[in-house]
Amino acid sequence: MQNNKLSLEEINILVSKLSLKEIENLSDDEILDISMPRPGHPEALGFMLQPPYFKSTEHFSEAMHALGIRLGKVSAQKIEENKLLRLAVKPTQCNLWNSDISSGVATSMFENIKDYSESFDTDADHRARSLLKCNDCVQLYFHEWIEYIDYENGNDPTYSTYIPVANILDADKLNAYSSIMLCGAQPRIQYDWPADEEASIAKWVRDKKEAGHHVDKGP
Ligand SMILES: [Zn+2]
Repeated sequence: MQNNKLSLEEINILVSKLSLKEIENLSDDEILDISMPRPGHPEALGFMLQPPYFKSTEHFSEAMHALGIRLGKVSAQKIEENKLLRLAVKPTQCNLWNSDISSGVATSMFENIKDYSESFDTDADHRARSLLKCNDCVQLYFHEWIEYIDYENGNDPTYSTYIPVANILDADKLNAYSSIMLCGAQPRIQYDWPADEEASIAKWVRDKKEAGHHVDKGP
C-alpha cells in the first residue's frame, strides 16, 4: 500500500474505467488505496479525480458520488489503521533497511531527537517513546519500548518497535496511537524479547502478510 501507492494519474485512469457497480463492490483496502488526505484537511479522506479523464462531466460526478458512498461504508477503525500505514515510510537510504537485524538493534545506532515522555500505562508496565535518528544517515525512526512486568521470574517480556518516518510532524501523529495500533504500522522493525525466550527476535515487518508476534497486553 504505502510502498506501491498508485500515482494520481493511475488512480484517475483506473477509476474512469470502473462502472458504478464496480465502485460499489470495491474492497475496503481498494477504496482506501485510491483515496487520499484532502489538501488542507489531512484528517479527511477524499478523491483527487479530474474531469478530463472521464467520458463526460456527468460520468465524473456519478463516479465521485459512488466513491463517496463506498468510502462512507468503511469503518472508522479501518480508516485509522489506514492513516497509520500512510505515516510510515520506506527507509531505502538507511543501512538498517537492507541489513540483517536478527541479532538486534542497539540503541547506540541512534541519536535521540525527541522524547515523548508520558505516564506509564499501568503501575506495572514501563513504556518509553522517542524519535530517533540513524547515526549513519538522516533517517528518522519513531521508537516505542515497553516492558511488561509479570512478577513470575526475572525476565520480563520487552517489546520494541521502530517505525521509519519522514519527519517530526509524522512522528507526533504516530504518538497519538496506542501501542496495539502501532503494531499495524508498516514497514517497521519489531524487536521482541518474550519472557520465556533465551534471546531477542528482531525483524523488519514490511507488509501486512508478515505480521508476526504481536503485543497482546496493554490498553
Ligand atoms: Zn541510516
